[in-house]
Amino acid sequence: MKSHAKVVVIGGGVVGCSVLFHLARHGWTDIVLLERDELTSGSTWHAAGGMHTINGDPNVAKLQKYTISLYKEIEELSGQATGVHLTGGVLLAATEARLDWLRGVVAKGRYLGIDLEEISPDEAAELMPLLDPKQFVGAVRNKEDGHLDPSGVTHAYAKAARKLGAEVERFTKVEDIVRRADGLWRVITNKGEVVAEHVVNAGGLWAREVGRMVGLELPVLAMEHMYLITEDMPEVAAWNQKTGTEIIHAVDFDGELYLRQERGGMLMGTYEKANKPWSELQTPWNFGHELLEPDIDRIAPSLEVGFRHFPAFQNTGIRQIINGPFTFAPDGNPLVGPVRGLPGFWVACGVMAGFSQGGGVGLALSNWMIEGDPGADIWAMDVSRYGDWATMAYTNAKVRENYSRRFSIRFPNEELPAGRPLKTTPVYDLLSAKGAQWGVAFGLEVPLWYAPEDVRDEFSWRRSSDFEHVAKEVRTVRTSVGLSEISSFAKYRVTGAGAAAWLDRLLACRLPKPGRMTLAPMLKEDGRLIGDFSLANLGSRSSSGEGWFLAGSGIAEQYHMRWFEAHLPKDGSVMIEALGAKLTGLSIAGPKARDVLARATRTDVSNAAFPFMATARMDIGMAPCLVGRVSYTGDLGYEIWVAPEYQRAAYQTLIAAGEDFGIGLFGARALNALRLEKNYGSWAREYRPIYGPLEAGLDRFVAYGKETDFIGRQAALAERQQGGKLRLRAFVVDAADADVIGDEPIWFDGAVRGWVTSGGYAHHSKTSMALGYVPKEIADEADGFEIELLGKRYPARVQPTPLFDANLERMRG
Ligand SMILES: Cc1cc2nc3c(=O)[nH]c(=O)nc-3n(C[C@H](O)[C@H](O)[C@H](O)COP(=O)(O)OP(=O)(O)OC[C@H]3O[C@@H](n4cnc5c(N)ncnc54)[C@H](O)[C@@H]3O)c2cc1C
Repeated sequence: MKSHAKVVVIGGGVVGCSVLFHLARHGWTDIVLLERDELTSGSTWHAAGGMHTINGDPNVAKLQKYTISLYKEIEELSGQATGVHLTGGVLLAATEARLDWLRGVVAKGRYLGIDLEEISPDEAAELMPLLDPKQFVGAVRNKEDGHLDPSGVTHAYAKAARKLGAEVERFTKVEDIVRRADGLWRVITNKGEVVAEHVVNAGGLWAREVGRMVGLELPVLAMEHMYLITEDMPEVAAWNQKTGTEIIHAVDFDGELYLRQERGGMLMGTYEKANKPWSELQTPWNFGHELLEPDIDRIAPSLEVGFRHFPAFQNTGIRQIINGPFTFAPDGNPLVGPVRGLPGFWVACGVMAGFSQGGGVGLALSNWMIEGDPGADIWAMDVSRYGDWATMAYTNAKVRENYSRRFSIRFPNEELPAGRPLKTTPVYDLLSAKGAQWGVAFGLEVPLWYAPEDVRDEFSWRRSSDFEHVAKEVRTVRTSVGLSEISSFAKYRVTGAGAAAWLDRLLACRLPKPGRMTLAPMLKEDGRLIGDFSLANLGSRSSSGEGWFLAGSGIAEQYHMRWFEAHLPKDGSVMIEALGAKLTGLSIAGPKARDVLARATRTDVSNAAFPFMATARMDIGMAPCLVGRVSYTGDLGYEIWVAPEYQRAAYQTLIAAGEDFGIGLFGARALNALRLEKNYGSWAREYRPIYGPLEAGLDRFVAYGKETDFIGRQAALAERQQGGKLRLRAFVVDAADADVIGDEPIWFDGAVRGWVTSGGYAHHSKTSMALGYVPKEIADEADGFEIELLGKRYPARVQPTPLFDANLERMRG
């Protein structure tokens, strides 16, 4: 075994081998994979080997498509058979709600290049002869479904990597990982030590244990999973004989089943409701090629549905039941990327569909390690989407919930209850008493809307029970004044002698003067967005909290801290702190907002003394606060930042001060309705690391000509000169009873040309709205756009100026 390597990959399952192959293909060959046993000694060996392109997140779906397209290449390169059978498949809907969901999947497929087609149950039965069409209301045909040989694929990755120069060391167990003072990693094994620049944790079933070696508690948990294999079935033999083809795959969402042919019989797997975690606290090192005890009682309810939906199963025997463990992150998507605070330590774990996702994970991670960027939008898989709140107990609750809902529909207005409430702010119970309906962002409870006593969300793809109540909240803001909780923003304080110079280089905007704020896009070297913030210059006069204050996307706190910390000067001249729950927030907005603030504070908040984009410390009642005159509602408004111990007092002062002005509470859904009619985008929806500032419409906040050479300037200038490819546009949609939620296709002149990033109903303007990207060539066309919603296309028009306050009179007045 070599003593030094550029990269050590830990784990020889399908994921580790894919990472190794991708690194080697990308040109890094001083790399070694360490496997404690034979390759495929974790989940990989007993997988059912199914693969498909469907994923709730379009970007993960793209990587799944890539994974499937890769098998031919690694087979040819390695000479190792992968056993790929691209049979195609049917996705089955037994309810209308499921069919609506499937139509959304077909629609996304249009811009992802995934060939999906809605078909009738009878047509599905012609393709998959074992199903009873009377049990279904509709189906979708997917040509890119299939199955493969799990061991063959893993060995093909490893052999291909070896051919390219990588090394694989089997029976080499990593026992500890230690960071040296020079930043290199000592990877200590039972056979000696390798010193490496980079370490990749692809430990699969043992990813937690490998993480713990560097003090990291990864949010992954293994679950038991069962599938059965039947005896040979005459129906299968007859079909094979008649058509000369295998029986195709089927996913029966409502039965929570997946099926495919296995030799002369069938394989049927299920994500049962009564699921069972495996080795909750730690995975035993002596586990390897064993199977777990099957428990037919646990899967009996699913099998009953299966026997009804696929009647031929009633007449066959079960040859074998496989029960094996594999790992999940709380939301079921992989954990990929560099780990904040551990330079050179990477993860590629929690991959629950290794044969659909392993290739994409390897590609993204190798790009990231070599180019400094994953090369695709992989937010849905980024390990930084979790923070400290994703504890072992939280993960346990969430993984169980996710497993039991693997095939369940999640409606756009549906909030999942497991593991909540966990993080709350001091006003939580006050807002609950007012009917707050809670959602969650980065672990923190967030009020979505306020419901009367007997009204709750009715889960639906269409406008629902909250519609009129959210409309009322919007009315309150636009006609008098509303108060909302905004603690879920990420807040950062930047201090130190080098703070200004550092921010000037990191952010693409011009730095504001003391007491002023600005919008601050942050770019990567390739000129694309890596963040958007509001930046406040707190000045240096005040003894408390002098320096700079940034507010940004709450869900991206860990993501942005990883970026900030990786760019901090080594000399200690700049300090940055994510304030998290140490700073809570309230916001008031609406034409009467200034009157309310004036009553709540002794500071002069007249327009002259405290104009738009001003920031200052002031007392609200007796509570010391930092107030910024800015509001995401696009109205006259204020963001009020306050230490948690004062949040209740500040809240009560504002509510009392607002009484005469008709103050009311509003939640995140009303805020969405309000920002839409201002054409405001938000991070992780409109603003993502694949768009340039010109494309995203943030170029007006980029100080292309400022003296400091900020990160991404050259590429941003090139984008400005060449015009980029896309444009973000706001659309007015002639929708009927449903509004876009995001990821719908945008049609132009009869072809799919773009995609929706978010939208909803703008209650004040009484307009259904969508934000989305289209090619720049058509971005300013007046007519010809349509947006596909639940299987139908609705006319849409570009709305170039905001429907509300286009002249900024309200906001600046
Ligand atoms: C019953 C069942 C059916 C499934 N069906 C499918 C399916 O149809 N399609 C699909 O895509 N997925 C399926 N899966 C999931 C699939 O198996 C996993 O997604 C995949 O195997 C994950 O691979 P991995 O490389 O991340 O982890 P693993 O396969 O667990 O590999 C991790 C490897 O790391 C090694 N290792 C760990 N720690 C160390 C250490 N300290 N030193 C050295 N080596 C170490 C282990 O020995 C192991 O070989 C199924 C899983 C099960 C259990």
